[in-house]
Amino acid sequence: MRVLIVGQGLAGTLASHACLQRGWDVHVVDSGEHCASSVAAGMYNPMSFRRIVEVWDARLHLDAMLATYADFESILHDTFLHPLPIQKRIPNQEYAALWNSKCDQIPWIEPVSKLTTGAQIGPVKGGGWVNLPKLLVSWRQHLTSLGRFSRQKWTPADNDANWDAVVHCRGVHERFSPQLETLDIRANRGEILTIGTKGHTIADDLIDNFGKWTLPMAPGQWRLGASYEWNRTDLDPTAETRAFLLERLQQAHTTDVRVDVTAHDAGLRPVSKDRRPAVGPRPSRDGHFVFNGLGTRGVLIGPRWAQHLADGMAGVNHWDPQVDPARLQMTD
Ligand SMILES: Cc1cc2nc3c(=O)[nH]c(=O)nc-3n(C[C@H](O)[C@H](O)[C@H](O)COP(=O)(O)OP(=O)(O)OC[C@H]3O[C@@H](n4cnc5c(N)ncnc54)[C@H](O)[C@@H]3O)c2cc1C
Repeated sequence: MRVLIVGQGLAGTLASHACLQRGWDVHVVDSGEHCASSVAAGMYNPMSFRRIVEVWDARLHLDAMLATYADFESILHDTFLHPLPIQKRIPNQEYAALWNSKCDQIPWIEPVSKLTTGAQIGPVKGGGWVNLPKLLVSWRQHLTSLGRFSRQKWTPADNDANWDAVVHCRGVHERFSPQLETLDIRANRGEILTIGTKGHTIADDLIDNFGKWTLPMAPGQWRLGASYEWNRTDLDPTAETRAFLLERLQQAHTTDVRVDVTAHDAGLRPVSKDRRPAVGPRPSRDGHFVFNGLGTRGVLIGPRWAQHLADGMAGVNHWDPQVDPARLQMTD
């Protein structure tokens, strides 16, 4: 099968990998426009802390995720996956009691314990982060070396006769420049800081979640994130959000935290109205497929749905209706 993948963010990277695994003739085009995956922290976490529940199909998603990123590491001879413990700061006694009551049912969490500072934390297993910017660049170089990547913008006027299938992995551009039917892929805007600090104030051996979070990415370097906004789509980082994130960091520590902000990025997460991805045939055009709506947890859920996409294109499984792109089709 000859497959054109449009977009090389996380979705296009995973989709092209899944299609190449099946021995298909794959080509990837990317226009070089805004790419959420290039600013993402790449964190994965099997827990949702608001109600202390496992995320949707946590085990299935984690298993597919670990196998897929291991395969990238083997193909590209580099390390992208960094398993790390997560500690959830416990805000009050009610939350601590609820957390402890759930430890028997949820395999990822352990009973609340106390740090030497007196702060209570809930330990979480099964989390970590994937170095997405590095993975994207490395995969693009690999595809380029195989003659399978072009810096190019796809438009509906392009001649699709060369391809048996075209897979749209265009993130928020799917909605903002709807070149076929319009799908309701919304933009959730996020800002994130890269910080450095000297001393031992910020944990460097775990992801520290205090409502916001710090993620150690290299010695002396952390990501601090992230914000969530629905009513803005510009990509200009703001002084207000920077101050807000730094204030939240300080509130989580008993001693003065002095940091240098080395980068401040903004990006647009592609999110669907029901928070499920869009994976399957395009409603309006035969031979065209969608892989989008990876939302806030693309790193964790993306690999499983990339396999579902490729299996569906091969005709070896039925498309799962809960991720059908047709449910997101807009009429006006
Ligand atoms: C601040 C921030 C922090 C985040 N942190 C995390 C995190 O810790 N963990 C997590 O799992 N997720 C995180 N996310 C979410 C994650 O980034 C998304 O789930 C994921 O990156 C979406 O990938 P995508 O490939 O669908 O879209 P994108 O990464 O936006 O890629 C879309 C690509 O399509 C290309 N394109 C668009 N139109 C065309 C066209 N016509 N022709 C050719 N190319 C085209 C663009 O150039 C772009 O490269 C974060 C997001 C933000 C903004």
